[in-house]
Formats: sequence, C-alpha cells, structure tokens
Amino acid sequence: MVDDLPGSVVDVPTDAAPHKAYTALLERGVLGFQACSDCRSAIFPPRGRCHRCGADALLWRASAGLGTVYSATAITPRVERSYTVVLIDLDEGYRMMSRIDRSEVAIGDRVVVDVWTKGEEPLPLFIQTGVSNA
Ligand SMILES: [Zn+2]
Repeated sequence: MVDDLPGSVVDVPTDAAPHKAYTALLERGVLGFQACSDCRSAIFPPRGRCHRCGADALLWRASAGLGTVYSATAITPRVERSYTVVLIDLDEGYRMMSRIDRSEVAIGDRVVVDVWTKGEEPLPLFIQTGVSNA
C-alpha cells in the first residue's frame, strides 16, 4: 500500500504500549517509528500522542534505516572501552540518539542502522555507508 506518510507500512499489534511495539519491531530487525495520521509528522521516540498536533492517531511505520549524522560525541569511560554517541537524522524526518561502530565519524556522514540482537534488548546501532553529505 502506498500512502503519503513517511516510511513504509509495518504490521505490529496496535494495542501494544509504544515501547513494547518498538522493541517487538527491533526484534524482527525493523527500525520502527510512528507517523501522525493527522499532521503527517514522523514521531520518535514512541509515544501515545503526536508531539506537534496532539492527535492520538499514530501509525507504526518501518524506517529504511538510512540517515545522516547530526552530532557525535566520543565517550571515554575510565574503566570501559570508549564509544561514540550520535544523533542521527533519519531520512523519514525524525532524529534519534544511538551509538556508532567507530570513533572516526563526522557530522554529515551517511549511516545505516544495524540492529544488534545479541543483548537482553535489541539495540539499533549505526554504521557508516561511506558516503558523506558534508
Ligand atoms: Zn500530528
């Protein structure tokens, strides 16, 4: 089905709490987000109402997982391995916080999601595509 909402149609139980639906999609390797059926906004993180217009008619959508690095911050804990926290602007029109697989990352780098499912909860991590928008 083709419509004018960002992302693509995805099947998820509509009575599930927003975070449970999001996690269920990640377990299937799908990066999900919501779209408002009234104002057409992309909504993230998952919630019960649209943050722009207040409507509660939110639909689950599948992201293609492609985005651009908005910011990157290297974290160097005293006793753990260092890692990089990033804000990613997804192509569907929302921003999310995540981690990236390497420290050499620049604002404007193109990235793709890689859902890591080996932990207790699946995590959407990002890897660079090698293409830069900067
Ligand atoms: Zn809305």
